[in-house]
Amino acid sequence: MAGQKPFWRRKTLEQLTTQEWESLCDHCGLCCLVKLEEEDTGTIHYTRVACALYDCENGGCTAYAERHERMPDCLQLTPESVRRISWLPSTCAYRRLAEGRDLPSWHPLVTGDPQSTARAGRSIAGRVISERDVDVEDLPTLLHDWEDDA
Ligand code: SF4
Ligand code: SF4
Repeated sequence: MAGQKPFWRRKTLEQLTTQEWESLCDHCGLCCLVKLEEEDTGTIHYTRVACALYDCENGGCTAYAERHERMPDCLQLTPESVRRISWLPSTCAYRRLAEGRDLPSWHPLVTGDPQSTARAGRSIAGRVISERDVDVEDLPTLLHDWEDDA
């Protein structure tokens, strides 16, 4: 309808249809990165190492439909978990909406271009290595500040 606000500004996270919910993901891939937590402070550090099921070259999950069975650590995003999980990147559409912010200017729903996340330099694709190729003890040497990077 002309003049009507887009769905993500009209609805709460709980009111979204499954299709609307899925379309909010900009496919940046940041939530698919291996993260390290400091034992004493709980501080989370991102690495430049991606989940074993992430397609490091082209982006995206190689087993999306069965990701939770194949990768028990894979994040289950719901309106409740989005509000609870503190380490979601500040650019993540779910976090932004949960905090009352709008989508970023480069989000595909705003631009109409499915590639606009990558064009804006916001995708990890082509910039990460797979955890399949990394020894766990080397992870502390592979930290990366993605927030500063983009
Ligand atoms: S961080 Fe958010 S927007 Fe980016 S891939 Fe994960 S769920 Fe999607
Ligand atoms: S299983 Fe797929 S969606 Fe989940 S973290 Fe790994 S690559 Fe990302």
